[in-house]
Amino acid sequence: MSGERTAGAGAGAAADGEADVVIVGGGAAGLSLAHALTAPGAARPLSVTLVETPRRSLRPPARTWCFWQEGPSGFDEALVASWRRLRVRGRDGGVVDGELGAMRYHMLRSDTFEALVTARLTARPRVRLLTATAEAVRDVPGGAEAVCVTADGRRVTVRGRHLYDSRPARTLPPARSTLLQHFRGWFVHTSEPVFDGDVVELMDFRVPQPPHGLAFGYVLPLGPAHALVEYTQFSPTPLAGPAYTAALRHYTDEVLRLGRFTVSAVEQGVIPMTDARFPRRTGARVHRIGAVGGATRPATGYTFSAVQRQCGAVASALRAGDEDGRLPPPHRRRSLAMDAVLLRALDTGRVNGPDFFTALFRDVPTERVLRFLDGRSTWWEDLLIGFSTPVVPMLRTGAELPFLPRRPHPGPPGGGPGGG
Ligand SMILES: Cc1cc2nc3c(=O)[nH]c(=O)nc-3n(C[C@H](O)[C@H](O)[C@H](O)COP(=O)(O)OP(=O)(O)OC[C@H]3O[C@@H](n4cnc5c(N)ncnc54)[C@H](O)[C@@H]3O)c2cc1C
Repeated sequence: MSGERTAGAGAGAAADGEADVVIVGGGAAGLSLAHALTAPGAARPLSVTLVETPRRSLRPPARTWCFWQEGPSGFDEALVASWRRLRVRGRDGGVVDGELGAMRYHMLRSDTFEALVTARLTARPRVRLLTATAEAVRDVPGGAEAVCVTADGRRVTVRGRHLYDSRPARTLPPARSTLLQHFRGWFVHTSEPVFDGDVVELMDFRVPQPPHGLAFGYVLPLGPAHALVEYTQFSPTPLAGPAYTAALRHYTDEVLRLGRFTVSAVEQGVIPMTDARFPRRTGARVHRIGAVGGATRPATGYTFSAVQRQCGAVASALRAGDEDGRLPPPHRRRSLAMDAVLLRALDTGRVNGPDFFTALFRDVPTERVLRFLDGRSTWWEDLLIGFSTPVVPMLRTGAELPFLPRRPHPGPPGGGPGGG
């Protein structure tokens, strides 16, 4: 977003700083919510002000979002690629291929998504895109406000009946278990056609394993000689930069045997995987959306789909005249409880991560695993998934969880040296 844009004829309500809804942060969650709230066809059109910071130090670098879905995603024009098969490779190289049925595994780039959604929002009435940094958000009589500063130092206060805040938090809430999903990826171009464009290598465990946690390769093929190849760990702390380079070198040269290749872009990040409780409200009318509101699935780090579900649900309610504005939980309690057991079992080393995930994808149809991760599986399917895991260590871990204290995480959400 650049400058300030107030779209459409009906924008009068927003021009004086008042809107039905104020959204702080124009990343995955903020843009998705603005998009859902202002989609054409509402019985009761809403005015929305979306505040995105101009400060480069606060804006996250462009990134790749993958998610799975049945039917149109709503952002199909922005998709880089889609696949119908996922592969998991065990430590011994054994292959488990899974079909997705009617679902597709999609890849989206955040900058393309931002451009598409911003263009759509600009064309919609009652949308104001404000480039400013929110310094404070708070309840006020009848709603909430964000006190913002523009790039030229002007103070702007925007008010709404509801405010949704997606600014990342400086610290993680206390938790019993927190691992970091940290990774670096290379967009590679090989001199020979080496990639199978039909299948995503979701978890390739043929890489050396860290002493604490687990590591795997991840390959998103974009053509016979083009792919995003990543090295990922689930472990307590990120690596120093050269260690990712060494791990990717080993994976591309020794495991994938790519031959000669060039790297056109690098992507890096850290996603906290935690059983912390994320507050969805910090005031009567101040709500939290996105990763800061707990949308990241603890056991996987996937966030994008939960953001879409949550934003879709709250937008439908507000557009139908519901004044409550509260967000539904991003994940089911049962899913969070199962994830908490898995995180703790991985953290304590009671289960072997590579063997756990390889067996899960071998014993449970991939489509069912994905529905489970979306919170769409039945309790009976969840029970079958539970029985496909190492039952004794998982039960022991589940039994001790209620007695464990929640402790503060010793560092920023992005971890230490390699934070992305
Ligand atoms: C490298 C990487 C890859 C990922 N890949 C996937 C994936 O494949 N699939 C998946 O499901 N999840 C993925 N995730 C996790 C998750 O989807 C992303 O972190 C996602 O960006 C979270 O969306 P968000 O809106 O909560 O936060 P963000 O996208 O980070 O948005 C927050 C926004 O707030 C803005 N902001 C910050 N401070 C202020 C302020 N004071 N005032 C105004 N605006 C402010 C920022 O500029 C930013 O635009 C990935 C995460 C990373 C880091």
